[in-house]
Amino acid sequence: MTDIIIIGAGTAGLSAAIYGVRSGRSVMIFEGNAPGGQIINTPAVENYPGIKNISGFDFAQGLLEQAMELGAELKYEEVKGLQQDGKTWLVQTAKEEYPARSVILAVGAKNRALGLPHEEEWIGAGVSYCATCDGAFYRDKDVAVVGGGNTALEDAAFLTNYCNKVYLIHRRNEFRGEAKLADRLREKENVEFVLNATIEELLGEDRLAGVAVKDKETGERREIPLQGLFVAVGQVPANHPFEGFIELDNGGYAKAAEDGKTSRPGLFIAGDCRTKAVRQLTTAASDGANAALSAAAYLSEGE
Ligand code: NAP
Repeated sequence: MTDIIIIGAGTAGLSAAIYGVRSGRSVMIFEGNAPGGQIINTPAVENYPGIKNISGFDFAQGLLEQAMELGAELKYEEVKGLQQDGKTWLVQTAKEEYPARSVILAVGAKNRALGLPHEEEWIGAGVSYCATCDGAFYRDKDVAVVGGGNTALEDAAFLTNYCNKVYLIHRRNEFRGEAKLADRLREKENVEFVLNATIEELLGEDRLAGVAVKDKETGERREIPLQGLFVAVGQVPANHPFEGFIELDNGGYAKAAEDGKTSRPGLFIAGDCRTKAVRQLTTAASDGANAALSAAAYLSEGE
């Protein structure tokens, strides 16, 4: 019987493992993909307090080594579901069922992709899903943000500080995001709104060189030369296999406060899969620490 099983070895899950083990608890982490989570795709992390510059891969590697050296165990198995038997949680993979006294869901969220040819291939070669992480690499360049939510509006505003020109491409004439963010963006001189338009094609040879957009009303095609495209069309939390045990908000994020506690004793949520306003490395690490300390306190109460 493991004290704390953590599902997901991203920043939240690995931070939870560090705090769990240091609380004197046995910790097992499950990961179906490469450990490290979303950050491994980011070329350089420059906004994590105390670390001036590190590649996302190296950051994740350091976190993983730290958790492993402290004594956490990592299982490379995808968790298919969860069951509860009294106070025992049963974590189910394709191979086995693992019993635990508490569980932390740190399954993260994936950026929604546009689904266009070359999109995945050119991540780090002109395509990015994180303006905060990668914006500074596009200083004095022409870039576009696609999306109409708060993330797209904020990303576009952020990029105006670095970039020569920022196109905001959205599939409707109205924004899903807050009006005041859109109004603020309209005041910027280096922004062009490309509304009611969808991106049909990513242009380039071995990296992004532009996009072809289609006006939804006129059908007209326009090619926009670009060095960078920031995709901000929402996120898809990976909570689906656990829906029976957690309450989800309209976006599919698991409802839990900052302490990670859910309405189910012994079940905790950490990281990007949780309802919250800011999804950054720092907040993922903070969530992991909070959830693990909540789990450790829950275990102590039962002893
Ligand atoms: P979001 O609110 O779900 O918006 C996604 C946007 O992408 C929408 O405008 C949507 O268009 C568009 N979109 C979706 N699929 C698309 C596709 N396949 N092709 C082109 N466009 C597509 O996502 P988000 O902006 O990432 O925000 C997520 C949540 O975090 C929201 O609740 C948001 O308010 C919150 N957030 C808050 C803050 C803040 O408070 N400061 C900052 C960032 C995010 P349609 O509108 O046409 O559907």
